[in-house]
Amino acid sequence: MKKLHQQTLVFFKPDAINRGILGEIITRFERKGLKVVAMKMINLNDELINEHYHHLKNKSFFKNNLIFFQSVPIVLLVLEGLEAVKVVRNLAGPTFGVDAPAGTIRGDYSVSTRSNIIHASDSLENAKIEIARFFNKNELFDYQKIDEEILYAEDER
Ligand code: ADP
Repeated sequence: MKKLHQQTLVFFKPDAINRGILGEIITRFERKGLKVVAMKMINLNDELINEHYHHLKNKSFFKNNLIFFQSVPIVLLVLEGLEAVKVVRNLAGPTFGVDAPAGTIRGDYSVSTRSNIIHASDSLENAKIEIARFFNKNELFDYQKIDEEILYAEDER
C-alpha cells in the first residue's frame, strides 16, 4: 500500500443483499477512485456481531439487529485509497437513512435507522481492527491499478 493511502472496511447489510443493489454501490466506490483489495461473503454469527457492535449491545434495538444481521449472508469489502476511511464515510452518509443527504449511499437508498445499506469503518484505528476481524492477511491483495497515475497527483501516489 502507498504511504499516504489507507484501507477501510465496508460490508453490505442484509437490506442491500435482499434489494440486489450491490453492483450499484460498488460502482459508486469504483467511480470515486477507491481500489477493491479484498471481497467475500460470510454468515455473521452472534459472536462476530457482539464484537463488531459492542458499543450498541445495551441498546433496546440490539436484539432485533442480531436477527436482522443473520437473516442472509453479508458481503464484505476492503477499499483502499488516499484518506479512504474519510472518503468512504462521506460516501456512506450519516447513520440514519431519513437524515442522510441525497447523494450519499444512505441518503439515496435508505429510509431506515437500522437498514442503512452498508457498514463503513469510522476511524483509521477501527478500520485496522475491523479488517483484521473479518479478513486473514492472505485475503488482502496488494496490486497496482493502471488508473492510479490519473487519479492522483504525484505527491499523493
Ligand atoms: P454507523 O453504522 O453509522 O457507524 P452506529 O455505530 O451508531 O452507526 O450504529 C451501527 C448500526 O446499528 C447502524 O448503522 C444501524 O444499522 C444500527 N442502528 C443504530 N442505531 C439504531 C437504532 N436506533 N435502531 C435500529 N438500529 C440502529
